[in-house]
Parts: sequence; C-alpha cells; structure tokens
Amino acid sequence: MFDPNTIKKDFPILNRTVRNGKPLVYLDSAATSQKPQEVIDAIVEYYTEHNANVHRGIHTLGDESTRMFYEARAAVAKFFGADTNELMLMRNTTEAINAVVYVWAEDHISTGDTIIATEMEHHSNLVPWQVFAKRKGCSIEYVRVTEFGELDMADLKKKIHKGVKLVAVSHVSNTLGVINHVAEVAKLAHAVGALVLVDGAQSAPHLPIDFHKLGCDFFAFSGHKMVGPMGIGGLLIRAEVFKQIHPFLYGGGMINEVNLDTTTFADVPDAYIAGTPDVASTVGLAAACEYLSKLGMEQVAQHDAELVSYALEQLSKIPQIHIVGPMDAKKRCGSVAFIYDGVHAHDVAQILDSEGIAVRSGHHCTMPLHAKFKWGATTRMSFNVYTTKEDINALIRALNKVKEVFGK
Ligand code: PMP
Repeated sequence: MFDPNTIKKDFPILNRTVRNGKPLVYLDSAATSQKPQEVIDAIVEYYTEHNANVHRGIHTLGDESTRMFYEARAAVAKFFGADTNELMLMRNTTEAINAVVYVWAEDHISTGDTIIATEMEHHSNLVPWQVFAKRKGCSIEYVRVTEFGELDMADLKKKIHKGVKLVAVSHVSNTLGVINHVAEVAKLAHAVGALVLVDGAQSAPHLPIDFHKLGCDFFAFSGHKMVGPMGIGGLLIRAEVFKQIHPFLYGGGMINEVNLDTTTFADVPDAYIAGTPDVASTVGLAAACEYLSKLGMEQVAQHDAELVSYALEQLSKIPQIHIVGPMDAKKRCGSVAFIYDGVHAHDVAQILDSEGIAVRSGHHCTMPLHAKFKWGATTRMSFNVYTTKEDINALIRALNKVKEVFGK
C-alpha cells in the first residue's frame, strides 16, 4: 500500500527541524526533490567501494566502475521505456535541451524555418530556442495559453505549417501545473514533418513515462527532481532521430582512433560519453528509478493526483487566494501556485518559512507567462512521494499568519 507517512521515513532530511525546532514541511519538490536513504547509500557505496575511472583501467575497480556505470545507464533508460541507446546522460533538463540545439537543430533548422514553443515554457525551453532562432535567422512562434491556464490547441493548429521544424513543449508546466497533451502535439507536428521536444522536468517525477508511447522525438529530464542526485539527468532521443545527430562533446573516451588530421568515433553509446562521466550520480539516479519503480509510478501518479485535488480544495476556501492554472485537478500534476491578494509572494513565502514550511516564490523561470497574466510573482507549493495531506494542512494553517501580519 502506498503510504506517504511510511515513505517519509525513507528521506532522512525530512526528520530535521528548522526555525527554532519547527518540523520541516518541505513543499518545494518541483525545484528539487529530497533523496531517500537508498539513493544516498548507493552514492556512498560507490565512492567507498568501487571508485575508479571507467574504460581506462585494466584493474578490478576500473572493471567494477565501468560495469556499474553501464548497468545504471541501462536501468535509467528502462525506467522511461526507452532503449539503452536512446539515452544521452546529461547534467539536467537545461543541458539536455541545449544539447538538442547542438546535436540536431544546428544541422536541421535553417534560415527562414520556424520553431514553435509555448507561452508557458520554462526559460530552459525558451531561451535556448530564442537565442538559436536569432543566430540562425529563423522565426519562433509561441502557442497561446488560455485564460484557464491550458495550452490552446486550436492556436497550435493555426500556427503549425510545413516550415515548422521543431515544436518545443513542456509535458507539465512548473507554474500552471497543467499537463499538456504531448501525444496530440506530436501528431500535429509530425504531420508537417516537424520533430517534437518535450521538457519532462516536471512530469518525470510524477507520471509513468513510456517514451515510445509519448510519441515525441526528444524527452529531457532532471534526476534531482525525481528523488535522484543533482548533476545528472538525460535526453532521450528516438532511435531513428539518433541516426541523424552528431556527438555533443568531442574528446577522450568517445573515439576509436585519432591521428593529427582525422579521428574515427566510437559507436553509440560511447560516442556520446566524452570525458569522465559522473558515475556516482548515474548510479544514484538508477537507485532513484528503482525506488520509484518499487513504489509503482501508477501509485505515485495517483498519490500526486490526490494531493493536487486536496490542495485546490483547501486553497479555494480562502477568499484572498487566487489559484493559478486549471481548477480541474485531473488536468494538473505536481504543484499548485497561487497569489495572495495584496501580499507579495516573497512575503508569503517568508511567513511560511518562519513556520518551517518551504515553498517557492517568484516567477519560477516563467517570466513571459507571469507578464502575460500580469501576476508579478506567485507562491508555489509542490509535491513528491513523501508529501502528505498534513503537509498541506500545515501550509493552510500558516496562511492564517499572513492574514494576521498583513491584516488581510
Ligand atoms: N523545465 C521545467 C518545466 C522545470 O520546472 C525546470 C526546473 N525548474 C527546468 C526545466 C530546468 O531544470 P534543471 O534546472 O534541472 O535544468
């Protein structure tokens, strides 16, 4: 049975107190999740028992480290229903999206072509395309977000045409919490020959992902948001698309033979592993995938849906609160952001912090979305497998203090 109170015990940091002995209530998991002991142990064990560089040493530790690295990499790909050779390990979602620029877009998008993104994109899936479009002399169009905080699919249909080469879209918005219909986006994009890049930073921690069923060509994710370590994530690239790309980084480890004039490159996956990889973090990410798989991603998603529904219900009772994004819990995932009438989001977050409650305030790296709706700043609570309804109750109780302090 999925019991968040039992799961909480797996995450040692959640035992700590803050602000003069107040229990920590961690509602900032969309920024980064906490790590279970199993993940911490996997990293410690790697450095304690096995640490050596991969590939290069014909010795016991070198062999162990190499085996652990490749097994961990395969386990991460499997977690997403991808083939091992469809995964490029990256530092995080941001690096994965930038990698799409270098390994694919540079060669496949030309002057005069169009890129489509959306008004709700995180800066990580907007700025790389904006900068690339300016440099290449191509245009970038943004699919509208409706007043209800949903992607306007009719607007996408209007904007898509034969000149579009890429559609870049988030699976789940980190501000609106809305789940986008990426399979439908992919169908529309593929019909005109465009590829689809999905920013999976906020879906990978909460939803079962089957990369092939999703229908996209690129899927970017961050390990640190899915109970894994910081510094590791990945880019999934559909096998047929993988054949059209070139290596991301050049150097040691990814070659067959080098002479002063020419180089021949290693096969996949080694051609995409240049330099010393972050073996410990890869092992840690595989442990995170195993941890989530043991809980069951269907159950993880169900638990998240209950939390989102509960948070919407409780926040709706407070007259000063305006919820950002759809009011239908079924359309959302992972977080609920809101505005407290007449009180700046940073003040709300500071008062919550004084009660031991960690939330995020600001523009959450979605400045164009905040500007469109003239929000200024929002306060966001966000969840993971260890979040309980009692955590949300604690936040709701602490919001009364905002009322006391600001008299609203
Ligand atoms: N996209 C979305 C939707 C996100 O929420 C985030 C993290 N806030 C990112 C991209 C960037 O992730 P990272 O900082 O791990 O690269």
